[in-house]
Order: sequence, then C-alpha cells, then structure tokens
Amino acid sequence: MLLPGDGIGPEVVQEATKVLEAVARKFGRRFQFETRPMGGNAIDSHGDPLPEETLAACRQADAVLLGAVGGPKWDDPRAKTRPEAGLLKIRKELGLFANLRPIKPFSQLLAASPLRREIIEGTDILFVRELTGGIYFGESGRRPHASGEEAYNVMSYTTGEVERVVRVAAEAARRRRGKLTMVDKANVLDASRLWRSVTARIMAEEFPELTYEVVLVDAMAMHLLSRPRDFDVVVTENLFGDILTDEGSMLTGSMGLLPSAALGTPGPGLYEPIHGSAPDIAGQGIANPLGTILAAAMLLRYSLSMEQEAVAVETAVSAVLTAGHRTRDIAAGQASVGTQKMGALVIAAL
Ligand code: NAD
Repeated sequence: MLLPGDGIGPEVVQEATKVLEAVARKFGRRFQFETRPMGGNAIDSHGDPLPEETLAACRQADAVLLGAVGGPKWDDPRAKTRPEAGLLKIRKELGLFANLRPIKPFSQLLAASPLRREIIEGTDILFVRELTGGIYFGESGRRPHASGEEAYNVMSYTTGEVERVVRVAAEAARRRRGKLTMVDKANVLDASRLWRSVTARIMAEEFPELTYEVVLVDAMAMHLLSRPRDFDVVVTENLFGDILTDEGSMLTGSMGLLPSAALGTPGPGLYEPIHGSAPDIAGQGIANPLGTILAAAMLLRYSLSMEQEAVAVETAVSAVLTAGHRTRDIAAGQASVGTQKMGALVIAAL
C-alpha cells in the first residue's frame, strides 16, 4: 500500500516504487501496488487525514510505504483536524508497537556528520523504540496546587508490552551481530525495573545465545557520542527512544537518508523516511529519495522476508554514493542530481 502523502512525499515514494519494480524484475518477484490518500491531501478530499477506506486498505496489505504528511496549508491551529492526526491514528489502528530506526552512516558521507570520522566510522546501530506505551500514552492532567498548578504524566508499562517489543529487538539482533542493549533508568523508575526484569527473563529463556547488556539512559546519551560502534541492537521505552533516536540520527548528519519502520504483529508494517514533507522544496524535483528507497529496503527485509533483495537495494544506494552522486541536500554545494535521476541511478546500480 502506497501512501505518498504531501509535499515531497509523492516525489520520493514514486522513486522508491520504481526501485521495488526493478527489484521485482531482477529477482523474479511480483509486487502489487495500490495508492490511497493520507495526510493533508486526504483532509482536502475526504475531510479526514486517514479516511476509513485508506485504513481498511492498509489492513489488507502486506506492508505500507508512506512518504510524509503535513504542510503550511494545514497548519492552522484552529483547524478541526491535522495531517499528523492521521499518523498517530494509523500507528494505533495497525498496532505498530515497535519503531525500528537503523543508524548507519555511509562512509562516503562521514564528513556530513558533526562528529569526527574516527568516532563514527563503522557505526551500525538498530534502534528499537517502544511506540504505543509509556508516558506519552499514560494518564495525564493538571490540577490546582498551592503554588498555582500541578501537571502530571504517568509512565506505565505492562509485562506484555515489554515482552513483545523485546522479542522484536532480540529477533533483529539474531539476524545481525547478536548483541542486544536495553536502555532504562532502573536506578530511579519502577517502570524501568519492570523492563529490566522482563527483558532479563526473555533473553535468558528465549535468546540465550545473544549477548545482552543494560545501560542507563543518561550514560547511553554519552556512549552514543563517544563509542557508537559498540552497539548493535538497542531496545528502549517510548520517551527514551524518542530522544535517543534523534541524537543517533545526527551521527549520520543527513536526514534525507534515514529510513524507519513501525512493526506490529500480526499485521502489516509501516515504512517511511524519517524526514517530513519538506514544503520548502516540494514540487522542485530536488528532494533526496534515498531515505524512502532505504525504507523500501526495510520493507523487503521485515515485512516480506526478502533479505537478499533488501541487501541489494542497500548496496545499490551505497554504490551510487561511492560513485559520487549527490542530491542537493548532501552535495555540500557541489554538483547535484534531481530526485528522478537519483532514483534512476539506484536502479542502474541494482
Ligand atoms: P522536514 O523534515 O520536512 O524538513 C526539514 C528540512 O530538511 C527542510 O529544509 C527540508 O527541505 C529538508 N529535507 C527534508 N527531507 C528532505 C529530503 N528528502 N531531501 C532534501 N531535503 C530534505 O521537517 P519540517 O520542515 O520541520 O516539517 C515540514 C512538514 O512535515 C510539517 O508539516 C511537519 O509537521 C511534517 N512532518 C511530517 C513527518 C512525517 O510525515 N512523518 C515527520 C516530520 C515532519
């Protein structure tokens, strides 16, 4: 299911779709695509950022590829609904509790990172963030207080919520370098102490062959910048994951290149680039499609179990960068190619 969305969304999803078609030709596969409205364009056409028919169609799909949603046209705070409401709703409705974000700087672009080459070279982390629980979904409110007001948000997790996301992370670690790091704040938070005991049990009972460690979130914020190479799969709760994945994305220095996946079991996974709809460059044909193309590679890997095909797409992207091709956002002022040309170069490399 293709949900191109708004702004540069349709431009980058088009290139990713062409790459999937090329994968089909090369590997003798057959993909069936359908496109549905979502985001601001769906508000315009249906009065709803996630129309029922879009949601129903997504439920029937094996996987969903999303561009990006939003833009100034739908930013009016007085509006009845906003494009982002569609994003939250699709995650909730499809039960997408695990957010996967790979952080793997391309060696060809190390100069784009604010960190020194010798620190980031060889970094290859997969973050698995819990996406539908914790403090963002807990009880919250405001009440009168002697000093004025009191505001509160409750962080709560259940055994089942921890188990299912830890299993997703550990299974990913099994397919990678066999190491899982769980990040918490168990010296202070009860919710973290539950995470720690549940994770330790799952790892001992179901994944004894993996290397397992725990790191406190404050220490992790430092280690990510000082020794990012030491981590393989990192699993953590929603709030910590929100912050750490943004910190992690800076290691690469180029947002247009980063994919993400949201998985729930059973049901389709949702794949998208981490960037937004970039209204400032929409319609100009200069958006970087590589983040979406790499999201399509994740889709092949995690929803369709096509590892070989996924690696082929990732290798093709790397080859295009090695050959020196850049879209404007990563060209550092040098010559650049447009969105469609970049897509065609990836297909040629494939
Ligand atoms: P943005 O990610 O859209 O853009 C930030 C900057 O990065 C812009 O200068 C943009 O031109 C550039 N950029 C982003 N992606 C690029 C790409 N593929 N190629 C080249 N340059 C790229 O973030 P923003 O400007 O804060 O938000 C714009 C809109 O997108 C807002 O409406 C926001 O709510 C929405 N948004 C949507 C999502 C999503 O759909 N998941 C995520 C973030 C923001």
